[in-house]
Amino acid sequence: MIYDTTLRDGEQTPGVSFAVEAKLKIARMLDELGVPQIEAGFPVVSKEEWQAVRAIASEGLNAEVLCLARSMKSDIDEALSCDVDGVIVFIALSPLHLKYKLKMPVSRAIELALDAVEYAKDHGLFVQLSAEDATRTPLTRLYRLFKHAEEVSVDRAGIADTAGCITPTGMHRLVSLLKQKLKVKLSVHCHNDFGLATANSLAAYEAGVDAISVTVNGIGERCGNAALEEVVTALYCLYGVDLGFKLHLLKPLSDMVAALSGVKRDPFKPIVGEHAFKHESGIHVAAVLKEPYTYEPYDPSLVGNRRAIVFGKHSGITGIREILKRKGIVLSEAESRVLLDGVKKISKGYLTEEQLTMLALREVATIQ
Ligand code: MN
Repeated sequence: MIYDTTLRDGEQTPGVSFAVEAKLKIARMLDELGVPQIEAGFPVVSKEEWQAVRAIASEGLNAEVLCLARSMKSDIDEALSCDVDGVIVFIALSPLHLKYKLKMPVSRAIELALDAVEYAKDHGLFVQLSAEDATRTPLTRLYRLFKHAEEVSVDRAGIADTAGCITPTGMHRLVSLLKQKLKVKLSVHCHNDFGLATANSLAAYEAGVDAISVTVNGIGERCGNAALEEVVTALYCLYGVDLGFKLHLLKPLSDMVAALSGVKRDPFKPIVGEHAFKHESGIHVAAVLKEPYTYEPYDPSLVGNRRAIVFGKHSGITGIREILKRKGIVLSEAESRVLLDGVKKISKGYLTEEQLTMLALREVATIQ
């Protein structure tokens, strides 16, 4: 299963702050998409954040609404006052975090985490216990935490690759080893510091992980998180896993989050980027016009994106003639060559189909 943290980790992108109404809009669309759990925020951060989490929790969504909480009763009380369905309680056991952040021994940190889990469970919440910096934590220590959490009936144990520094092979091994020894459900939360967040999430899936944490457009701290659209579409197309999502909403959701977050999307962004289904090269265009799968892995309409054929330096005569023919403009060989020369002279950017048509009409067309 997928749980989305666009509204919590995604909002921790430097410079991003969603207003309550923006968070509600995103939550509604995540719900419509079919995301079963939404991490709506971290209520103790501010009064407005608390209001946003409470508003999302009382929206009557199909999705379960979770929020983040430190391993402290007061944070769980805040969560309860927002009326959420569940909490993600976190603790760090890595040597770095214990020494420089928590300043306490392992045993004390485990005790705090378990107290928090028990307190939240006693109040009827769904509880995930996340081990921050789990990928730089000794495995025996991680296992000890999760085993104890299992004994106090935690609902899920979370492996956070907080600094984004594990490899897919390492993640596969980590999840496999924990799966062998634990009964509790496991989740992963991957960061993209080496561009491996999606790969690591899928490696965890291959090793049997139960839940994957994602954000829309992969927004989040530093280099961001595993992208919702990448993980879900890869699961569907490459692994044959149908989570029942309305995949055609992926592109509109991505557009909405880009607009509301003010974070510009990389044109090369898989699935939802402007270039994801754009073709210019003559050889590619000629083939795609006959059979799109020659240069596309799946139909763009699956994810609500669109194919674009554009014209520039790399264009070829076959593609140009075919596109114009489809618009009722039939060019002779000689006319096509004149037009192609004109197209290749475009020094910046490219022509869209409409611009190509106008150029053809203006310069060489014989309209039939
Ligand atoms: Mn994170």
